Amino acid sequence: MTEPKRPEVLVLGGGISGLAAAFELTGGEHPDGRLAVTIIEASQECGGKIASAQIAGRTIDVAADGFLARRPEALDLIGALGKSELLRTPGTSGASIFARGKLRAMPEGLSLGIPTNWRALAKSRVLSLHGLLRAGLDLVAPRHDLRGKLGDRAIGPLVAAKLGREVVQTLVDPMLGGIHAGHVAEMSASATFPQLLEVAGNSGSLMHALRATLPPSPTSDAPAKPVFNSLDGSVASLVSALVECLTARGVTFASATKATKMTRTHADYLVTTDKGEFSAQAVVFALPAEPAAQVIRELDAELGGLLDTIIYASVGVVTLVVDPDLLPKDRHGTGLLVPSTSRRRAGTAFFTTAVTYLSTKWPHVARSGDELLRVSVGKIDDVRFATLSDEQLVTQVIDELSELFGVVVTARETHVKRWMNALPQYQVNHLLRVGGIEAAAERLGHVAFTGAAIGGVGIPACIGHGRKTGQRIRNALLD
Ligand SMILES: Cc1cc2nc3c(=O)[nH]c(=O)nc-3n(C[C@H](O)[C@H](O)[C@H](O)COP(=O)(O)OP(=O)(O)OC[C@H]3O[C@@H](n4cnc5c(N)ncnc54)[C@H](O)[C@@H]3O)c2cc1C
Repeated sequence: MTEPKRPEVLVLGGGISGLAAAFELTGGEHPDGRLAVTIIEASQECGGKIASAQIAGRTIDVAADGFLARRPEALDLIGALGKSELLRTPGTSGASIFARGKLRAMPEGLSLGIPTNWRALAKSRVLSLHGLLRAGLDLVAPRHDLRGKLGDRAIGPLVAAKLGREVVQTLVDPMLGGIHAGHVAEMSASATFPQLLEVAGNSGSLMHALRATLPPSPTSDAPAKPVFNSLDGSVASLVSALVECLTARGVTFASATKATKMTRTHADYLVTTDKGEFSAQAVVFALPAEPAAQVIRELDAELGGLLDTIIYASVGVVTLVVDPDLLPKDRHGTGLLVPSTSRRRAGTAFFTTAVTYLSTKWPHVARSGDELLRVSVGKIDDVRFATLSDEQLVTQVIDELSELFGVVVTARETHVKRWMNALPQYQVNHLLRVGGIEAAAERLGHVAFTGAAIGGVGIPACIGHGRKTGQRIRNALLD
């Protein structure tokens, strides 16, 4: 007697979201072979925006270099894969900001860049006297939020009304905007910082209200937990572990295969790729918004249009291997941020948005005799880096580093990685768009959307949303 045919599922995109979805489609922590899963991935390798390169004889991340440890999703998955022994913690904390003409340690008590402690803000001297006094008004005469709690808000104007524009330009935009390579002027509070939206409607001080949401200060009994984790052998070893696990579970990897179109026969979905057609009873989209829109448009033009409204920022990551003796010894914390309003001595805007002191932040990649620096360039409104050759870009960032540090920096080895259209922008009302996409997908049957444009930008959010999406489709097919 022949076995009944297993339901087939196609996962489009082998980034962390698609791999996490496939983990659940194959049974999650209790694997079984009840579904036949195929991952269609345009590149030769899976991983998407998690990638590493060999630099100075080490495997170094050239996109995400860590993930939030205060969210459980990445840690849970790493545990389920039996790889917890690979977890690594940062060697230090804190960072500097280029403010008022020099690098200064960021004030303590920031909540995603928003100050919660005026004294610490004053001590840091990152603001002008006028900016500091304006922020202090929040304590003595807090501004009421006249717009009320209804609806979404842009973070920048909301915080500026409470604490002044200088706080936004000097701290909030570089920190929160920097995570997304966007600007808080257009960034959705409900999608990126919902607690802010909750407390902004209160009549009292914003700084006080946000301080109450911070984790308790560390004590000797309860020392501070790391905010971030990484993995030995780079964050990309999570991708290798997942691919290994899924391969052992019998998942088919169609790599170097680009999905271009999806249509429907009565019971099946038909996905056209540059290597031929694949049919299945369910499809999980784990693609960036633009290719997802392209693939779905023929079946549902409205859904394609909704995906098209999500815009992306491009960034560049320049890794430099530097002689540690050439760098200033008083570098603070894990790196530095450069506000986009800062100007170089010559009056031009910096390309650099952030510098990570990689070998200080992650002791597991440190070696005596060299220092690894990683310079991030580019933002939603700044793609100047894309017009330069690799050599020109390296020269540009070294020149800027020399100005930031006040010493002549030279590099022994360099590596440039460009991430074009890589970071989705969560603009005001982003969650309404996502709701529309999910509702439209539901009308198509066993079709679901996940990925950084939909389920959250960081690795833990992508894993959490990817797993939930995989579970939902699995349940729908097996019920
Ligand atoms: C420079 C940079 C630094 C970052 N740093 C951090 C960090 O430190 N911590 C953190 O938590 N997050 C960080 N992120 C964000 C995080 O890396 C991403 O949000 C996450 O990896 C996105 O995963 P994804 O699977 O949703 O999408 P992607 O990684 O974009 O995966 C989508 C996959 O789909 C494939 N694909 C595209 N089109 C097609 C097609 N037509 N057919 C088939 N396949 C296709 C792509 O090749 C890709 O593999 C960073 C991102 C960048 C760019």
